[in-house]
Amino acid sequence: MSEVLELPKQDLGPASGFLSKTVQLFIDGEFVDAASGEIFETTNPATGEKLADIALGDAADINKAVDAARQAFDKGPWSKMTPSERQKILYKIGDLILENADELAYLESLDNGKPFSVARAADIPLTADLFHYMAAHARTMEGAIIPVSDIAVPGAEFHAYTLREAIGVIGLITPWNYPLLIAAGWQMAGALAAGNTIVLKPSEVTPLSIMRFAELAKEAGVPDGVINIVPGNGLGAGTTLTEHDLVDKIGFTGSVRTGRSILHTVADGNLKKVTLELGGKSPDIIMDDADLEKAIPGVAMGIFFNQGECCCAGSRLLVHKLVYNEVLEGLKKEAEKIKLGSGQSDTTDMGPVVSQKQEDTIMSYINSGIEEGATLVTGGKKVGEQGHFIEPTIFADVNRDMKIVKEEIFGPVLVVQSFETLEEAIEMANDTEFGLGAGIWTESLANTHQLAKAIKAGTVFVNCYNVFDAATPFGGYKMSGWGRNRGKEAFEAFTETKAVYAKLN
Ligand code: NDP
Repeated sequence: MSEVLELPKQDLGPASGFLSKTVQLFIDGEFVDAASGEIFETTNPATGEKLADIALGDAADINKAVDAARQAFDKGPWSKMTPSERQKILYKIGDLILENADELAYLESLDNGKPFSVARAADIPLTADLFHYMAAHARTMEGAIIPVSDIAVPGAEFHAYTLREAIGVIGLITPWNYPLLIAAGWQMAGALAAGNTIVLKPSEVTPLSIMRFAELAKEAGVPDGVINIVPGNGLGAGTTLTEHDLVDKIGFTGSVRTGRSILHTVADGNLKKVTLELGGKSPDIIMDDADLEKAIPGVAMGIFFNQGECCCAGSRLLVHKLVYNEVLEGLKKEAEKIKLGSGQSDTTDMGPVVSQKQEDTIMSYINSGIEEGATLVTGGKKVGEQGHFIEPTIFADVNRDMKIVKEEIFGPVLVVQSFETLEEAIEMANDTEFGLGAGIWTESLANTHQLAKAIKAGTVFVNCYNVFDAATPFGGYKMSGWGRNRGKEAFEAFTETKAVYAKLN
């Protein structure tokens, strides 16, 4: 049974300076109020207390931001800078993120609920690393010389080559689970390295860290109009960005429902390019030869890390029948050890989920699991009067038709099934409309490589989980998305390839 640690009075720590004023939009290099003059509040999910007032952008602000980004792209200087000049600025952004890591991690923890220790060890350094990594890519926008033999033009000689170019204005729409890492690191860094300009609409649930980032980007020397950030509602700011004819591409991370809606809008509009990183229902497989001392805490971390609010969370555990009882008992102990509390407390392992809406969604899934006859092994309850704390929850005796097995919950809820053969494990792992992540726990090389090959997922973790390096591509098979974030693939996804034929005779 989990208890919420006593919640101290809200402590703004190193974020108090930033939070002492109304947070404005960032358009064309200036911090400005919303055209409507409207503001909204962002709150602390651990206590419900207000953190700050934020300018609420809408269609008028998005239009202004797109004009600025268009101008900055078409007229320069960003797209016309040398790769080395862009590289230096991006590298500097990475450095400034590290220099201000405590403040950024505090903002992330206050706004999202996650433990400060997690934001400080993961979200912030990973974001900086993506800027350092993508800065190098600014120097690698290479084409190729292609030997051609155009049979329709007998006797002609050609010098043919490809050019890799920036796409133009990129509209980014991002969620609340890794507010800075996804918006700045996974999306912006690669887009900027290629020479594009940006209009970002972050989730209005967690706008703080990305608005502090805007100050750092300005300090690093990003020219006016290259980065524009407009917090606002999905319906309004988000749809205006998606519909906009002067936007050349949308990079989206969030729910399947919104991803689908963006595709409809784009299909009816200028057919701008789209990458989507949507949800998952990722299998985590424990074979009978696994080292259970590593597998059990590893599986617990795979689902309970970041309150389960991870798109690739290992939310469906498949366990070999021979070790099923031992694993279930071990996981119950792991879950019950987890200390819930405010993200700013040193002793907290797991913070609150992000919002009342998310709490309601998770609790309705937990209730549906109970109603559908699954066995609640541990957890299952909201904890405390204040904030949005939910116990780490494990269900056993589930079947493939249950909602908790089929649908993404995006919270600290694990469902456990058993299997007897490798073939059965593969069939169960792939029995989902998603394909984002997967985990394998085994000491056998044969099992490792057979499973890694057979599972339809964009990332497979073997004897580990939730490893996120800047250089590896991340994205989904099936309904988990289109395209990849991070790595060379993400950089290339922010470029166009042009073929050039020069006739030599
Ligand atoms: P959404 O997909 O609704 O939100 C993601 C982003 O899209 C937000 O910035 C949102 O703005 C914006 N948005 C919403 N509607 C539109 C629209 N029609 N056009 C353009 N932009 C839009 O996710 P939620 O925050 O509502 O979370 C719901 C579920 O989505 C979660 O429970 C989880 O299952 C999944 N999810 C998956 C994530 C992932 O990493 N793959 C991340 C977050 C959520 P606004 O906040 O104003 O609505």
